[in-house]
Amino acid sequence: MTSSSAEYTRAELWSARPAGERMIIGNWKAGCRTASESVDLSRSVTAALSPVPAGVRVVVCPAFTALGAVRTLLGDGILLGAQDLFWEDQGAYTGAITGPMLTDLGCVCALVGHSERRRLFGETDDVVARKLRACWRHGLMPVLCVGESLAQREAGATASVLQAQVRSGLSGCAPGPLAIAYEPIWAIGTGRAATPRDCADGLAVIRACVAEIWPSLSPVPCLYGGSVTTENCAGFWGAGTADGALVGGVSLKAGEFATICRIAADGGRADS
Ligand code: PEP
Repeated sequence: MTSSSAEYTRAELWSARPAGERMIIGNWKAGCRTASESVDLSRSVTAALSPVPAGVRVVVCPAFTALGAVRTLLGDGILLGAQDLFWEDQGAYTGAITGPMLTDLGCVCALVGHSERRRLFGETDDVVARKLRACWRHGLMPVLCVGESLAQREAGATASVLQAQVRSGLSGCAPGPLAIAYEPIWAIGTGRAATPRDCADGLAVIRACVAEIWPSLSPVPCLYGGSVTTENCAGFWGAGTADGALVGGVSLKAGEFATICRIAADGGRADS
């Protein structure tokens, strides 16, 4: 992917999204230990997805340190995203990775509020809201991650948790490009995915909440994340459910990630 195509696709990623197109985002986390491992993975993903099938938008989110190297190697139609960003643009913020740094490296989107950031790095809803605004200032599409813990689910609080997370992120600002990933915390990295029914219920709450806050906005892409595999992914794309997936662990396996992308492109059929 060249920087000029990144400029083009940043706008295209959200505003010109064809109806029915699915979005598959690979979150590589710290799964590659070095930039050269990320380079190898990006070569494998590119080879496995050559060409990227029509009907699916594919994004990979390597570690910050690998963005520069990976950017030049991704095949046409595979976009670059960031796993996080800092909320200010410039200044005395030691260690921060800012929106301008990410767009300069060709990123089209950034994950915001991933549960691992909330849990391990103490990110609050206020921090998440600032990061969303930083994305919008710099033309990055935020992928707002929301989801309930097991204790919250068992207490019957799933809907109220999702509503609170969506409202605190979006209230008080003008509509902007956005995708939302419903990621039940108990399903992330556990091998215990939500059922398609759990997914549909969570997404219905999220969609209703966005429509209430931003009634003028056309539907935002809503993804499911949490132990997505080649076997279970099609279940999340039935009528009225997810517009795609945020894939963690399996995105480190190029062949399986490519299979998920092909299943998504093929309308959810698992036999593609
Ligand atoms: C994630 O971390 O966003 C995620 C969905 O991880 P996994 O697919 O490994 O559950």
